[in-house]
Amino acid sequence: MSVDIKNLVQKYDTPLYVYDFDNIARRYEELKHAFEGKKSLVAYAVKSNSNLAVIRHLANMGAGADCVSIGEVKRALRAGVKKYRIIFSGVGKKDEEIREALQEDILLINLESEAEMKRVEMLAKELGVEARISIRVNPNVDPKTHPYISTGLHENKFGVSIDAAKRMYIYAKKSEHLNPIGIHFHIGSQLTELSPIEEACGIVADLVRSLQAINIDIKFFDIGGGLGVVYDDEVTIRTEAYAHAITQAIKGLDVTIVMEPGRYMVANSGIFLTKVLYEKKNGAKRFVIVDGAMNDLIRPSLYNAYHKIEAVQKTGETTPADVVGPVCESGDFLGKDIALPALEHNDILVVHSAGAYGFTMSSNYNTRGKVAEVAISNGNDYLIRQRENFDDQIRLEEVCDTGWQS
Ligand SMILES: *Cc1c(COP(=O)(O)O)cnc(C)c1O
Repeated sequence: MSVDIKNLVQKYDTPLYVYDFDNIARRYEELKHAFEGKKSLVAYAVKSNSNLAVIRHLANMGAGADCVSIGEVKRALRAGVKKYRIIFSGVGKKDEEIREALQEDILLINLESEAEMKRVEMLAKELGVEARISIRVNPNVDPKTHPYISTGLHENKFGVSIDAAKRMYIYAKKSEHLNPIGIHFHIGSQLTELSPIEEACGIVADLVRSLQAINIDIKFFDIGGGLGVVYDDEVTIRTEAYAHAITQAIKGLDVTIVMEPGRYMVANSGIFLTKVLYEKKNGAKRFVIVDGAMNDLIRPSLYNAYHKIEAVQKTGETTPADVVGPVCESGDFLGKDIALPALEHNDILVVHSAGAYGFTMSSNYNTRGKVAEVAISNGNDYLIRQRENFDDQIRLEEVCDTGWQS
């Protein structure tokens, strides 16, 4: 990202998320290009970075949205995503969410259990509509990623088995209020190996063929998200190889390939900026205490995820340091054993590849306001979310008079 970081910090203060919109566009184009000549839909996984400006930016290029709550569906609609490009997934949808999704007439409601199917059928009947559905199949393949972000094994809570899916399709086909036109799988996140995706694709494509044989016509073949990115020195999946493997697996099927990339689209397009407060040593251990914390970027604490961290315009001999925030938890760190030069108050650190699952996973823990977000496009910077102040944080709270006094 070619931006003047010091200037941005002066203008917007820290901690701060900065997103390179030009790079997000390049990622989108690259993926679309890999599937050129095929019917495809890139349904951006909104949960990875759900800022309206980010969704709008992708919608402008023709992207759809993969949503996991009605809130995300509303975000997508508000940001201008066409309703016929919106998918509603998620393992536990409430009646009200299903109702709203049906009323908004989005492309697909993605079902994750037999019980949910019955619920959607009932609600569609009440509203007098037909629900377009897809079913999330759990192909039981090992995605070879972190267990917390692995979703495609039977031991995970997601989706249904091939046999259950088949029963559900047969039921849905007969229902007046269900229209089964899609199939879906999503085996995990930060995938760096193609073979599990290929394997899952093959298993699910076989199911589609067997459904075809009984006149159940699947039109949307949704391969989920999960494309890995480079945080450190990972070797990731090339989009051409990805497209090739998928096209091979679904050979002969007349379907639209739906993808749900989140991380791939935004992770490397974002940085998190934080300022140094103090340096300190506990024995031999060096700590750099910064103004950003686990409530702003939780991936290091939650998954032990690695983010490259660099000091801005600071040279000199480096020594390893833990970069930690002000939150009252030992697990509050942004990086461990990071090679950094000697630092002073107000020096700026850049935490790289923070565009996905950064801001969206942030919280107000320790009554810290959520940070501001800035977009960079064509050399210009735009504030796309204001920094929260104290009043923003307490706005919904009421002090009640319980009659207790000392
Ligand atoms: C989280 C999620 C995605 C996006 O995953 P990435 O690893 O960010 O690409 C896509 N589809 C579903 C159903 C998800 O839950």
